[in-house]
Amino acid sequence: MPDIQPAVLHWFRRDLRVSDNTALLAASQSGQVVIPLYILSDWRKEHSWTGPGRQQFLCECLESLSKNLQELGSSLIIRQGDPLKVLDELITLERISAIHFNRDPDPHGKQVERHLEKLCQKHGVLCQGHDDVSLHTFAQTTKDDGTAYRVYTPYSKRWLKVEKRNPLNKPKSLKTPPLPSDPLPKLESWQLALPAELDLLSGGEAAARQRLKQAISTRLPNYAQNRDHPAIPSTSRLSQDLRWGTLSIRKAYQEANKTLEAARDPKEQESYHTFIKELAWRDFYFHLLEAYPKVLDHEFNSDYRGLPWAEPDEKFAAWKEGQTGFPIVDAGMRELKATGFMHNRVRMIVAMFLTKDLHLDWRLGEQHFAQHLLDGEIASNNGGWQWSAGTGADAAPYFRIQNPWTQSKRFDVQGEYIKKWVPELEPVAPKALHQAPSLVSAHPKSYPQPIVDHSQERDKTLTIFKTHLDRVRGKN
Ligand code: FAD
Repeated sequence: MPDIQPAVLHWFRRDLRVSDNTALLAASQSGQVVIPLYILSDWRKEHSWTGPGRQQFLCECLESLSKNLQELGSSLIIRQGDPLKVLDELITLERISAIHFNRDPDPHGKQVERHLEKLCQKHGVLCQGHDDVSLHTFAQTTKDDGTAYRVYTPYSKRWLKVEKRNPLNKPKSLKTPPLPSDPLPKLESWQLALPAELDLLSGGEAAARQRLKQAISTRLPNYAQNRDHPAIPSTSRLSQDLRWGTLSIRKAYQEANKTLEAARDPKEQESYHTFIKELAWRDFYFHLLEAYPKVLDHEFNSDYRGLPWAEPDEKFAAWKEGQTGFPIVDAGMRELKATGFMHNRVRMIVAMFLTKDLHLDWRLGEQHFAQHLLDGEIASNNGGWQWSAGTGADAAPYFRIQNPWTQSKRFDVQGEYIKKWVPELEPVAPKALHQAPSLVSAHPKSYPQPIVDHSQERDKTLTIFKTHLDRVRGKN
């Protein structure tokens, strides 16, 4: 191939940014031309782990990435299909000396990386994975004996002590050989349409930076006090940006830490510190997934494998649609449907409701969330669901069952969050939103009666779990 310039390839996956992109910078420093590649999936109509909202967000992230690359003098190359086939074809046709990529924390992504390594060996191409997605790698945060933590608190103590890497600069310029590219994707590329009611945050690096700025200056100063109250905009709203890599975890940490160091008010200091510890939850779930990838197939705690979950029926449909008659649950599920986001406190409430009030398998909820959440992240989603079901590492014990009525009374006292997402409850007095309507004046007719009685279902759950545990532990 005498007239083709040697090139290095950067394979974008969940790192859709040019700033502080570890693998992209390494590729740019090779001194060769760089092929910045994104490979689109080629499924159609439906997918068990994604949906229209997420794909629309991805389209916007790719559009922004494409513009940012152009500003560096480069251009994004889009291809569609099986990544290994696409890469094989490019290696065969172009003179590629190295492939750089940021390592994926998910078992599926890791498997593709193992195949890619073999492919590169076959072609004599350097295959270079980089650590980028989490603040710390698994190896940096194990126990002294090299094993994984199973409990968050000791993990976070370790995590806080490890020195944090600063964000890297973006490449000054990138030269890309002229290669044909598929067009930027649109939802139709997957034969999807955006539901009319969906109101999404904008995707892309600039939007993510703007959200970070806003989080640091206005949302996070009272994070420690307000983060459990879904009506108060006091959480960062950065999860989708961290998921798709339009914001680097190092940048989020650096900005929060800088503000923490400059803060004089102890409440603010506590807030930024608490926020930083939430970033450690994200790394903790990556850590668990690395050590126990089987959590994607079964319960982390083996005692809870084989629990007799109920069959999904019309109650599951009511949960998905936000029609359970439990205002806080319905508000959360409608927020999810309308925005692709749900507040963390409410995620816990709806997840406990599905598993402990409806006795439905946490995997059903995990999948529904993955299809709808813009921030749908395999590790955190699985971790959050197993935590709520009581089956996970460091999970809530099964007998500590949250009561959705008292949760909403505690965290949405005035019912502002509920009324925002369940407008038919607007005329109802706040107090009446936090009790079953049989105990207070009835809710409006347009709103359903509660589909279950919480205290009865709570007792049923205790019996189901206890009977199962007794059986597993050989007591009957
Ligand atoms: P902030 O409170 O501002 O937190 C800052 C960042 O820290 C978040 O963006 C996120 O990256 C990380 N973080 C915070 N809390 C957690 C946590 N408990 N676990 C892991 N990371 C955390 N988070 C996801 O990013 N993707 C998911 O798919 C996901 N699924 C969940 C499912 C269930 C059942 C539960 C209970 C929680 C889930 N979470 C998930 C965690 C959490 O709800 C979201 O990270 C958070 O609501 C995002 O909002 P924020 O960016 O404003 O968070």
